[in-house]
Formats: sequence, structure tokens, C-alpha cells
Amino acid sequence: MVRKLHGYVPGEQPKVRGLIKLNTNENPAPPSPKVIRAIRSAADERLRRYPDPAARPLCEALAKFHGCKPENIIVGNGSDELLALATRAFAEPRQAGATTRRQIAKQTIQYFTPSYSLYPILADIHGAWRNEVKLPASFELPTNEVLQKSNWNFSAALSYITTPNAPSGRGYATSALAKLCAAQSGVTILDEAYVDFADENALRLPKRFPHVIVSRTFSKAYSLCFQRIGYFVGHPVLIGALDRIRDSYNVNGLGQAAALATLSDIGHYRKQFEHIVQLRTKTTGALEALGFEVLPSQANFIFARPTGITAAEWFQQLRERKILTRWFDAPKVRGWLRITIGTETEMRKFLSATRAIHRANRPA
Ligand SMILES: *Cc1c(COP(=O)(O)O)cnc(C)c1O
Repeated sequence: MVRKLHGYVPGEQPKVRGLIKLNTNENPAPPSPKVIRAIRSAADERLRRYPDPAARPLCEALAKFHGCKPENIIVGNGSDELLALATRAFAEPRQAGATTRRQIAKQTIQYFTPSYSLYPILADIHGAWRNEVKLPASFELPTNEVLQKSNWNFSAALSYITTPNAPSGRGYATSALAKLCAAQSGVTILDEAYVDFADENALRLPKRFPHVIVSRTFSKAYSLCFQRIGYFVGHPVLIGALDRIRDSYNVNGLGQAAALATLSDIGHYRKQFEHIVQLRTKTTGALEALGFEVLPSQANFIFARPTGITAAEWFQQLRERKILTRWFDAPKVRGWLRITIGTETEMRKFLSATRAIHRANRPA
């Protein structure tokens, strides 16, 4: 069984000098000075002790931040850990002899494609049924009416929705998500890893629907990938179920200190988000001026389709110039390149490299 599984393939993290990394959607800025100080000052003789087992102070700070109760929050070793816990808590593995629609639904994990490539891996590890539902060519969220005519299963035990979507960058309106959530009977997780760059978020939905969870992370927007801190917001019954199956000390102490310091310095980050959104608009305009198609993005990356050159060639030729982006060799997306918004200088270099590549490949 384990021999047949395929592990998750993360974006490359090569150690090449002068490399411009626009491939894993990290914030190009370091954590705020306050956060670095908090981590440094926590790294003393206390390291020999166990951290707070339930990350209680952090849950309380997050509850205050989001206007809910600590019982609505669980913190994980990155949101990836919580997504893995959710597959175990809310879906059953496939069982021989299960044939009714009801039994199958209880063993089904579903998500749209393309979206976060970890979901199928989690479903396979758990041995659940995988229900993949194709997004339309525009990558927009289908309406309930359209989904009713597709293979979407409104009774699936667990549904993952990446919003804003990755890799397309498309934002889904909260009103549209609300309609979908209202028609769902299983647990529905709205994965908002990139929501800090969007115009709206769906936090009101877990407050309204007891089967809906919002997933957040300090990794991408808050420059803390290294520390592994993510969290869920949801009904205490769902949060309690996850809490019962987690490891006793799932969240490391330095990560808890870093996340707490981040929340106390939120203004610092909001300024960065505005700057990244401005650069996103600028980069989009510059690519469109070359005749490239760029989807409207609500994230800290853009999804662009070149003209006069394939996305694979664009990816490769950027790579030769030490600029790393992400190209997915899969149906529907192989014509596109996903580009993380980096610093102003990085984006200038990316654009001038792209213009040079575009010129060099233009038919004479
Ligand atoms: C990066 C990412 C995550 C994982 O975040 P961690 O908190 O670092 O585990 C989850 N969902 C999506 C869509 C992501 O892009």
C-alpha cells in the first residue's frame, strides 16, 4: 500500500547565488524586526522545556484577532498538518463492500482541479475516495446549478476549496462560497492561504455554518514558512475533533512566539500586502502589454499565458537566467506559468528577462 503512494512534490529550493525565487509564493520580505527579536529572545535556556501543548496563548490572540472564541481555533505545525488531521477526522478510508451512495460519500474527499496539489496526496494516504472536479477553462467557481450537473458530490464527507485559488490566483466571492457551503452536507474547508492579498475573506462562513472551516497560515503572507504555523477557524465540535487526534506538542515553541509577535505587529504586514498588490497590478499590466494573458489575481502570485512562446519555454529560459517560476506539466495548466510577486527589483529583472525572451523567440 505505502509503496504505491506518491509523496507531495514541493517547489524547488535550490541554493544558487543570485537566484530570483518566484516559485513558491513566499513573501519576499523578512519577518518584521519585532518578530525576529521575539524568536531570538525566546531562544534561551527555556528551549529544554516543552512548549504550551495547546498553543493556548496563541489561540487566545487569534480569537481576539478574528472576533471569535479560543474554542473556535486550532493551531497546527503549518496548515498542512491540520489538512492532514482533517482527512483523518472527517473522512473514512475506503472499505470493501461499501456500495451505497451514502457509504461512498462518507469515504469521499473532493476538491477542484487545478487547486492545491496536496489534497489528492492526503486522500491517497488515508485511502479515501478522491473526487476531482474540473474547474472551467476560466478557473472560475462553478455555480451550484453547474455543479449539480457535474461529478461534484454535495454529500462528500470532506471538500477542500482553495480560495483565492492556487495556481490560478482567482478569488471566489464570499457570497458564491456561501451558496456552495449552504448546499454541502459534509465538512467543507476553505483554504485561505493567500487571503491577505484578496479583497474579501470568508471568515463569516464558519460563524454561520457549523460544517465549514477556514484554514489560514502564517507561512506565505507573514514570512514564517520556516516556523510552520497554520490554524483553522471553525465550530467547536469540529475543532474539538481535530484537537483529540493531534500530537500532544504539535506546535513548536519558537513558532508560537513568532506567531504571537506577528499578531502584535500586524500594521507592518498590512503595508507589505498593499505593496505586493500594487506590484501585482504593475506586473500584470507589463505582461499584458506583451500580449500575454494574465488572470485577475487575488493572491501574491499571478498566472500568465504567454504568446509567441510556450509556457514551458518561458519557464526554461527564465531558469537559464536564474529566475525560478512554477510550471505545472498537467492538462489545462501547462499553457500557463505561475509567478510569485517578489521585490520591486526582482520583478523588474523578471520583466526585462521576459521581454528579452519574448523578442528572441518572436518569428522574424
Ligand atoms: C502553502 C499552502 C498551504 C500550506 O501552508 P503551511 O501553513 O506552510 O503548511 C496550504 N494551502 C495552500 C493552498 C498553500 O498554497
